This record gives sequence, C-alpha cells and structure tokens, in this order.
Amino acid sequence: MFIKDYSKIKLDLYKLKKFDELKKTYRGFNINLKKYFNKNKPIKIYFKNINCPLCKSKNNSKIFIIDNFTYCECFKCKSIFNNPILKDKFYKEIYKVGAYKNYVKNLTEKGKKIRANLTERRKYNQISSYFKKRKNLKLLDIGCGTGTLMSLFVKNNWETLGIEPSKFSYLIAKSKNLNVTNIFFEEFNYKKKYDVITLFGVLEHVTNPYEILSKATKYLKKGGIIVFEVPSADSLIMNYLKSGHKLNQIYRFIEAARHLTFFSENGVEIICKKLNLKIIFRETNGLDIQTIFNDRKNNNIKEILNVQDLINNMNIGDHYRFFLTKN
Ligand SMILES: [Zn+2]
Repeated sequence: MFIKDYSKIKLDLYKLKKFDELKKTYRGFNINLKKYFNKNKPIKIYFKNINCPLCKSKNNSKIFIIDNFTYCECFKCKSIFNNPILKDKFYKEIYKVGAYKNYVKNLTEKGKKIRANLTERRKYNQISSYFKKRKNLKLLDIGCGTGTLMSLFVKNNWETLGIEPSKFSYLIAKSKNLNVTNIFFEEFNYKKKYDVITLFGVLEHVTNPYEILSKATKYLKKGGIIVFEVPSADSLIMNYLKSGHKLNQIYRFIEAARHLTFFSENGVEIICKKLNLKIIFRETNGLDIQTIFNDRKNNNIKEILNVQDLINNMNIGDHYRFFLTKN
C-alpha cells in the first residue's frame, strides 16, 4: 500500500490570507506577548530551558532571536526549537486570548473555500489513496480546527472524531454537525482505535510533540496511518534565517513564537525508531518565496509559484508532511 503522489497545488499566499490581515493578526500576537519580556529580555519566572523536544538531546546552540524569542539548533537531530520556552500555563494562555480568535476568524475561516476545494481536498485524496477497502474507516483529527478537513471525510462516509482545544473553533465545527470534542489531546481517553490519525498544524504548537505522537500511536489500528504537517528545519526559508537574513514585517513561518519546534527529517526518523513507526511518504508544501519577499503586489506571481513548486519538489519547502505507519 502506498500514498498516491498527487501533483502539488500552486498556492498564492495572499489569495489564501490577506496581507493586511496577516500583519494585523501577528501584531496582535506580539502585543500580547510583550508582558513576558523586560527591555526585550525574557523575564525568568515565565520561562524554562528545555532539551530537544524531538530527540531529547541536551546539546544545542542558539542560532537566532525573533520577536525576543531565542531559537536553538539541536546538535544531534538538527531540529530547531524555541529555548527557553514559555512555561506551559503561560503558553496555553496564548490560545485563549482574542489574538487567537482573530487568527481563526481572519486567516483560517476567510480562506476556507480555497482550503476546502484545494488544500484540504488534496489531503483527503492522499490519505484515502492508501486504503483499498473503503468501508468502515475511522478518522481521528487531532486539532481539527473549524472542521474543514473533517467535513470532507464525513462526505465520503468515514466515521470521524475531532479534537479541538479552542472553544471558538470547536463551536464553528459543532455548528457544521461534526463530531468534535473541546479538549486538549492530553485529556483524551477513548477506547476506540482509528485507521487514520491526523495532526495538521499541531505538533509545532505543543511543548511536548514527542509525547503527543507517542500517545497518538496508541490509538492507531494495525495497518493504519498517522499523518502530520509541521514547519521544516531543513527548508529554504530556515536556511535563509540561519544565514543571518531577516524577514521583514510578517513572520508567517515563525508566527511570533507560536511555532515552538521546526522539525528536521532526522528528528522525525529518530522519533519513528523510538515509537516503532515507519515513514511511508513525505513531501514538502511551502510558501518560502512569498514569505521571504513579502511582496503584497504579487508582481511576477506566476514565476514565484513556479519557483516555489520546484522548491517543494526538492523537499525544501517550509512545511513537511509525513505519513507514518506502524512497523
Ligand atoms: Zn534533537
């Protein structure tokens, strides 16, 4: 069994997310985070030092500071992570404040038509291509958001359950008659097992990605797959930042410290070994060029999207998508 290699979508960032709304939303995050710093330096009581969240190595070195947050590179697996990080209770607060609601309202929900018809449809096609037998399949969507992806599975007769900690997103999903629960995955405790477990845009936002994946594995049926998407440490844009170049205005890739971990392929391989998982397919889908150039006028958009398509096909686009199965 394999994942069908569908051609990539040439996605225009500013069609999906409006320039001014990106700017406003991320500025909102920054304002909200100011209270954890004094003269741009982290206030100690709010922060803690950590090991690599993927391979657990203690050895890392500082590579850059963005929005006052320090990012370190792991010597062992080359993943990049926020260190020191905000302690859990302060970090989780970010998702409760209005800034996050604005993110969902202005960035996720407004692009939902494009997402449902293009990006989420491609995800659905990739995932379902793995299963020959199309009956009685079960999906667990961890961090289902407003349920755009889940809806496609429901339409195709999958049994689905979504987990969504944000009340705001949960209520939107609920209004679409989707089967969702408003909790963090840490609190999840069901008896069922699933054919597919998805974590899109989840693992980079949590302080314990290894533990979350480990728990997800326990809910996976034999022959099932785990699919997740995360920002890549091996990407063109990350190499751009590591070379000392700065991004102006919009840190879509960093999201004002909301992205805690940038995954290297090596880090994912180490996790897989520990959890007895196997990578069966991986690809990158990025918006590196538009994020670096940050050109809202979108001159040369056709050429930009063509170059981005090449970058994605070289597997150095800014997000990785992994498909894993149990060994
Ligand atoms: Zn590491």
